Amino acid sequence: MNAGAGAEALGADFEAVGAIGRAAAGGGWSRPGYGAEECRAIDWLGGRARAAGLEVRLDGAGNLIARLDGQGGPAGPAVTMGSHLDTVANGGAFDGVVGVLCALDVLRRQAGARAAGAPALPLALELVCFRDEEGRFGALTGSRAMTGALAPDAALHRRDADGVTLAEAMAGAGLDPGRLGAARRPAGAIAAFLEVHIEQGRILEDAGIPLGLVTAIAGQRRISVRFEGAADHAGAAPMAARRDAFAAAARFADRFREMVIARGGGRARGTIGIVEVAPNLGNVIPAEVRLGLELRDEDEDRLADLARATAALAAEAAAALGAAATVRPRHATPPVAMAAAPRAALAAAARAEGLATMPLLSGAPPDAGILGAVVPAAMLFVPSRGGRSHCPEEWSDRPGIEGAARVLGRAAAALAGGGDG
Ligand SMILES: [Zn+2]
Repeated sequence: MNAGAGAEALGADFEAVGAIGRAAAGGGWSRPGYGAEECRAIDWLGGRARAAGLEVRLDGAGNLIARLDGQGGPAGPAVTMGSHLDTVANGGAFDGVVGVLCALDVLRRQAGARAAGAPALPLALELVCFRDEEGRFGALTGSRAMTGALAPDAALHRRDADGVTLAEAMAGAGLDPGRLGAARRPAGAIAAFLEVHIEQGRILEDAGIPLGLVTAIAGQRRISVRFEGAADHAGAAPMAARRDAFAAAARFADRFREMVIARGGGRARGTIGIVEVAPNLGNVIPAEVRLGLELRDEDEDRLADLARATAALAAEAAAALGAAATVRPRHATPPVAMAAAPRAALAAAARAEGLATMPLLSGAPPDAGILGAVVPAAMLFVPSRGGRSHCPEEWSDRPGIEGAARVLGRAAAALAGGGDG
């Protein structure tokens, strides 16, 4: 294949997607899930895939599936690749887009080879563009619908920040909400799933390594911690006699951070992102502080250990300041390990392309984390300049993306039974 022609097509694809949902000069991109801009991006993608000779359809969730049949015909299993074209509000030009366009590039090259007389591979190759990855309606709507991890009836009643339900948004996008459940793929339809994504961190850039091989998608624990003390006069109450809920929360916050560093094996992340103080007045000792925190790690046992240590620290900090602590687990997502076979295929493909890789943990839950819970999945990271993401400054270099597309193509062909691609 002519690498130059492929790179040119990929460049044109980035320009075309970058023209959809762009804010005024200097701003970022806004393509909310099931909104008009995401619809335009999906329409554009469908046209591009059809022009390359691929079979294109939308599933019940509106996910776009473009397919090149293998020897098993239209019902045969596929090696599926993809990501998303929706964005957060005022987001960047690469998150999700990189994975969709690399997959399109792979399928376009394969379709070109097929048209030139190459035989069909044993397995089909597919591109999937998932809807609403960024979570206008609760995160990863399209991929969860595809794996059956979404309960359609409950999901359709979910509202976005403006009160619009998923059912209304789907209807507005020309989709039938009644078909949401039909997006679920039968067992065995997807033999393996591969996703290229931007790192959204700066480990690759700092190491000067072009590709990250994701080992696992971090699991999450969200926990709320409430410290209860007693309101009193800020001027009159002696220091030693106070039951200051904020003093307890502050002691806890400092030790929580140290605990995550000490017990987290360098991998775990712990963040206190929500702080509510009551009564939140300058001359009253805080009676109550509510903290919302989250823990992330690739190891379920370590997450459990960190959660236990968090509860112990909260009790210790409260006792030291005469307050009481209540710890409530809010939400847990288990870690998802990437599968050995597709990981090995990506590693071998990178070696064949002469590109160095390093193992990385994915701290954000991508579509590959949802797919990886039910099919063998693996993920490739490309560097994000300065680690910036979900902002207009998001940037990944074109040659790095082209390298990832070549690695993806080799790995997908190998997994589809076509040798080392
Ligand atoms: Zn993404």
